[in-house]
Amino acid sequence: MGGTGRKTVYGGKWQAVRKKVLTRDGNRCQIGLPLICTIDATCVDHITPVAWGGEWWDLANLRAACQPCNQQLGAIARKHTPRANEVRNANGEGSRSIPQAPSSRDW
Ligand SMILES: [Zn+2]
Repeated sequence: MGGTGRKTVYGGKWQAVRKKVLTRDGNRCQIGLPLICTIDATCVDHITPVAWGGEWWDLANLRAACQPCNQQLGAIARKHTPRANEVRNANGEGSRSIPQAPSSRDW
């Protein structure tokens, strides 16, 4: 796969943390959603989504996840998280204090 030339938070530091979590969890998905889980973890999931105040780099807030589970949880989290721009629209302006999670989770 390519994936070069994108300067995001998913840089070298993230790759290192990701590897650490995958190794810690034995490359096995720790979410295990019924029907979709492949068990074979290739992603790392934030247990408490960053948009909900979870720690981005805290290993205790990270777990190995297979891609289907990770995507499914990400979709659920997004559904229940008011996007920063929606909040801004609702309040008019000035609510800049809301942390905005990176919109892409396609690691
Ligand atoms: Zn899974």
